Amino acid sequence: MKVSAQVVVIGGGVVGASVLYHLTELGWTDVVLVERKELTAGSTWHAAGGMHTLNGDPNVAKLQQYTVGLYREIERRSGQNCGIHMNGGLTLAGDRERMDWLRMAQARGRYLGMDMEIISPAEAKRMFPLLEEQYFIGALFDRDEGHVDPSGVTQAYAACARQAGAEIYQHTWVSDLRQRPDGTWDVMTDAGEIHAEHIVNAGGLWAREVGRMIGLELPVLAMEHMYLITEDMAEVAEYKAATGHELPMAMDFDGELYLRQERGGMLLGTYEQACVPWSPRETPWTFDQQLLTPDLDRIAPSLEVAFKHYPALATAGIKNVINGPFTFSPDGNPLVGPVPGVRNCWVACAVMAGFSQGGGVGLTLARWMVDGDPGEDIWAMDVARFGTWASLAYTNAKVRENYSRRFRITFPNEELPAGRPLHTTPVYDRLTAHNAVWGAGFGLEHPLWFQRPGEEPREDVTFRRSNAHPVVADECTTVRERVGLTECSNFAKYRVTGAGSAEWLQGLFTNRLPRVGRINLTAALDPGGHIVGEFSVARVGTDDFFLFGSQIAEAHHSRWFRGHLADGVRFDVLALSLVGLSLAGPRARDVLQSVTGVSLATADYPFMTFRRIDIGMIPAHVGRMTYTGDLGYEIWVAPEYQRALFDLLWQAGQPYGIGLFGFRALMSLRMEKMFGTWAREYRPIYTPAEAQMRSLRLDHDFIGRAAVEAELARGPARKLSYFDVTPDPAEPADVLGDEPIWHDGAVVGWVTSGAYAHYSARSLAFGYVPSELAVPGERFEVEIIGQRRPAVLLPEPVLDPAGERMRA
Ligand SMILES: Cc1cc2nc3c(=O)[nH]c(=O)nc-3n(C[C@H](O)[C@H](O)[C@H](O)COP(=O)(O)OP(=O)(O)OC[C@H]3O[C@@H](n4cnc5c(N)ncnc54)[C@H](O)[C@@H]3O)c2cc1C
Repeated sequence: MKVSAQVVVIGGGVVGASVLYHLTELGWTDVVLVERKELTAGSTWHAAGGMHTLNGDPNVAKLQQYTVGLYREIERRSGQNCGIHMNGGLTLAGDRERMDWLRMAQARGRYLGMDMEIISPAEAKRMFPLLEEQYFIGALFDRDEGHVDPSGVTQAYAACARQAGAEIYQHTWVSDLRQRPDGTWDVMTDAGEIHAEHIVNAGGLWAREVGRMIGLELPVLAMEHMYLITEDMAEVAEYKAATGHELPMAMDFDGELYLRQERGGMLLGTYEQACVPWSPRETPWTFDQQLLTPDLDRIAPSLEVAFKHYPALATAGIKNVINGPFTFSPDGNPLVGPVPGVRNCWVACAVMAGFSQGGGVGLTLARWMVDGDPGEDIWAMDVARFGTWASLAYTNAKVRENYSRRFRITFPNEELPAGRPLHTTPVYDRLTAHNAVWGAGFGLEHPLWFQRPGEEPREDVTFRRSNAHPVVADECTTVRERVGLTECSNFAKYRVTGAGSAEWLQGLFTNRLPRVGRINLTAALDPGGHIVGEFSVARVGTDDFFLFGSQIAEAHHSRWFRGHLADGVRFDVLALSLVGLSLAGPRARDVLQSVTGVSLATADYPFMTFRRIDIGMIPAHVGRMTYTGDLGYEIWVAPEYQRALFDLLWQAGQPYGIGLFGFRALMSLRMEKMFGTWAREYRPIYTPAEAQMRSLRLDHDFIGRAAVEAELARGPARKLSYFDVTPDPAEPADVLGDEPIWHDGAVVGWVTSGAYAHYSARSLAFGYVPSELAVPGERFEVEIIGQRRPAVLLPEPVLDPAGERMRA
């Protein structure tokens, strides 16, 4: 065994093997993989090997597409049979919502170049004669689905990596991990120590235990999962005889089950409601290529549906029932990337669909390690999307919810209840008393809208307009015509202090730093000129700053800032030690002026001022700006003052007709002001030139500047554009995000986000299209739930394009 290596990958399941392979592909060949038993000994060996490209997140779908396409290549290069069966797959819908979901999935696939087809029940029956047509109203057919041999794939990755110089040590257990002061690692194994620059935790079923070796509690939980294999079936043989090929795979939403051919019989797996976590606190090290006791009673409801929908299964003999554990994160997507706060420590775990996702996970992690950047938009898989609030118990609640909803639709306006409320701010009870409908982001509850008094604070889930629509319209009117009050604690808040802070931040940000007492917007870029984040920067001293950013990216962005930290500079995540309330609307100044002695007249407190002032008796930092685009203030206080602040403002606002507004109204208001948002319009796949960001000043040096200049010189290939969309008048639906944008009969771009702008009475959308088409007045179509709706590109915000309201 080597005594030192550049990288030690811990775990030889399909994911660890893929990471090892991709590292060697990118030229890192001094790499080893350590496996406690044999390759595949964790959850990999008993997997059903199914693979598909369909995923709710288009970026993950793209990586799944890459994974599926990789198998032939590694099979060819390694000479190892991967057992590839590309039979295609049907996703079957039994009701209208599911059909809508399939139409949207097909639409998303269009701009990723996926060739998916919506077919009728009769066509589905022709492709998959086992099904009973009457239970379905349609299906999505995807040619790029199939199944592989789990062991063959893992061995093929391993063989290719070995060919390139990687070494694999089986029957070698990593028992401890110790970091040296220089950030390198001593990897302790039962066969000796390896000194490594980097470690990768690909421990699968034991990823949690490997994390604990360095005091890390990863949000991962294993669930029991069952599938059964039938005896050979005459119907399967007849199909093969008639068509010359195998049956396609089938996913059946109603039965919460999937089916595929396995030799001469069928394999049927379920995601049952009565799901059971496995080893919820600790995975035993003694577990080795074992299976769990099957419990057919638990999957009986799914089997009942299966026997109804596919009657031939009811009479087929059962040859084998497999029950095995595999891991999930709280939202079902993998955990990938550098562990925040720990140098040279990487994870690739919680991969619940190793055969759809393992290749993409390996590729992006390897790029991240070798190039310092994953090279794709992997936000949905970033380990930093969870904070410390994702505890063991939270993970348990969320993973069970997620598992049991595997084949359920999560509507875009749906807030799932498990593990909530967990994080709340002091005004939570006040807002609940005002009938708040709550959502959660990064673990924190925030008000979505305020139901009318006496009515149940509940939102109907839908792809179209919900019962919130008219109420949110009223909230928007309150803001635009009088004054609205909302909570704004759901921003990430950071404080940067210490000698050299200004110089450090200036080297990270695209905009000039504001003067003391001022606030401005800026972007941060990677060296390739892609957007790392968008922040409001408030300066309270020469070397003293508050930064405000996207809350969901708090761990993601703080990892980035800390990764670039300069000597002498202190970077603190303020989290809920700073909470906020925001006043917005033409009477906002009147309300605030009535409770402070500081003059708020525009001459004294102009737009984009940020100062420490007292509101009543409450010490606060007050920024004169809001995301509504109206006259407004964001008021930041220590949490112990937030209730008093709320009461004070609410009281003071009564003569001015104050009302509460929530996140839904905010999204509507920002759309009519053409304000983009992080994770939708601004993501690491876009550049500031593409995103048309105004916070770009080329008068100072900053990370990514050379790339920006080069792009500006040649002109961006695509541009963020703003559209007025005409919804179907019979059944209006607004864009949700990720819809394809059509032009002259071809898909030319995609929607990033949108909303109904209540106050302007228009349905609006943001999206990226090729620069040559990004011309005001140009006509497009946006595909909304299977319908191509007209959209025209707008030159400027539909409301107050000169920005007079916020400067008033
Ligand atoms: C019944 C069932 C059916 C499934 N069907 C499918 C399917 O159809 N399609 C699909 O895509 N996925 C399927 N899966 C999921 C799939 O199995 C997983 O996504 C995949 O196996 C995850 O691989 P992994 O490498 O992350 O983890 P694992 O396979 O668990 O690998 C982790 C490895 O790390 C090793 N290890 C851990 N700690 C240490 C240590 N300290 N020292 C040394 N070695 C260590 C372990 O021994 C193990 O071999 C199924 C799973 C089950 C249970």
